Amino acid sequence: MVTLTHRPGVPPKRCARCWKLVTPENLVQGTYGPDCARLLGLVGVTTDTGHDGPDLLDLLAETMRAAR
Ligand SMILES: [Zn+2]
Repeated sequence: MVTLTHRPGVPPKRCARCWKLVTPENLVQGTYGPDCARLLGLVGVTTDTGHDGPDLLDLLAETMRAAR
């Protein structure tokens, strides 16, 4: 099975750990893919890869807005 990580107009980035292509919005801390972020303990308990709803980047954006 092939997972499509690339969407038109959104150049994928590479995870700093495994070098896999990751859609920028799925990057955790702008650096790691979701899988590595989980392995590194950067994200919470979920094992769900079919992400839905706010993720860390959303929360980060929210925090940045609130901090202003
Ligand atoms: Zn990775």
